[in-house]
Amino acid sequence: MPLIVQKFGGTSVGSIERIRNVAKKVKKAVEEGNKVVVVSSAMSGETDRLLGLTRELSTRPDPREQDMVVSTGEQVAIGLLSIALKEIGIDAVSLTGWQVPIYTDTAHTKARIKRIDTHRIHAELEKGKVVVVAGFQGIDDYGDITTLGRGGSDTTAVALAAALKADVCEIYTDVTGVFTADPRIVENARKIPVISYEEMMEMASLGSKVMQIRSVEFAAKYGVKIHVKSSFVDEDGTWIMEENEEMERVAVRGISHELKESKITVVKVPDKPGIAAKLFKALGDNNIVVDMIVQNVSHEGYTDISFTVNKVDADFAEEIAKEVAREVGASGVERNDRIAKISVVGLGMKTHAGTAGKMFEVLYKEGINIYAISTSEIKISCLIDEKYAELAVRALHEAFIENQETIVID
Ligand code: ASP
Ligand code: MG
Repeated sequence: MPLIVQKFGGTSVGSIERIRNVAKKVKKAVEEGNKVVVVSSAMSGETDRLLGLTRELSTRPDPREQDMVVSTGEQVAIGLLSIALKEIGIDAVSLTGWQVPIYTDTAHTKARIKRIDTHRIHAELEKGKVVVVAGFQGIDDYGDITTLGRGGSDTTAVALAAALKADVCEIYTDVTGVFTADPRIVENARKIPVISYEEMMEMASLGSKVMQIRSVEFAAKYGVKIHVKSSFVDEDGTWIMEENEEMERVAVRGISHELKESKITVVKVPDKPGIAAKLFKALGDNNIVVDMIVQNVSHEGYTDISFTVNKVDADFAEEIAKEVAREVGASGVERNDRIAKISVVGLGMKTHAGTAGKMFEVLYKEGINIYAISTSEIKISCLIDEKYAELAVRALHEAFIENQETIVID
């Protein structure tokens, strides 16, 4: 008997009516002859509401207690969903993270799953029940409830699918799949029928918000086949799976954009060995993750070094940069919060030359200046002024996706 894991996001279980709708979907899967494990998020808005309550009491709530509070959102949802299932004749049992148990490390609010004990789930499935598991939560070695970071229910679902060796992990959400660009910006954005893990990880980390990045990493590691689809529209969504040759036929799979970074520039740094090392060591020692780095060509013994960090770290990074600037005799530090990172992603770049040149040309034709560039085997990112972000995404989508030639591989 095939086993499937179905994960429903917050909007899918956002009201009693929607919970009834989810129950019907689960019932259909059961009637088609599947064993079904369901993972649910909290009802939409609930996690934010609970976090808000903790913030009313403290600007920095104790992480253990915060997890205690926010994990309740999922507990409510799985109980309600199980009641809805029973009402339509499907026997179901809800399990919280600790009842499964899903063991995590002790990093409250951003815990990682270490191990899942599948005995209880298997036993319930054997009894013919649908098992409804709370997403986003687990238990650590001290018996304390942990949560997996925002969007963590995706990771619960994929990890369960891996542990149970499920045939597929279906992620039900409020969009019909993963798109070639944000459909709110690009009218002609299309649903991507199949995408590789690697491309999906790049897209997720470059701003596409469909799935938690960690869940895709997990899927890649354990080869879990994912099907992202809408819980409101009954149609095939996007399959995320192992890459195959077919996937390299197009150079670019999608265009992502990200507005959450700031650029910091150390101006007029003496161009001598060891300065970049000093700056980035100081940032690293303070746990600041640096994304892009550019060092300009030196001019009369001086150069500028720019880097980007997440906006939430920008104040601290600027402070550190100022300190290093003083120490090494640079003339100062500049900061720009109004930047956007635009990326083109595709496995086909591995075998298809010319993507970078084409990307720069498209931006140039729109009169968009590039502040920094970074690349991997399957993506090219450019940092530009925030005010051109939408224009850039549209122009790149037109050039790479709408007018795309397929690469012929013999
Ligand atoms: N409820 C949690 C959140 O809002 C987890 C999830 O929805 O995946 O982040
Ligand atoms: Mg989500």
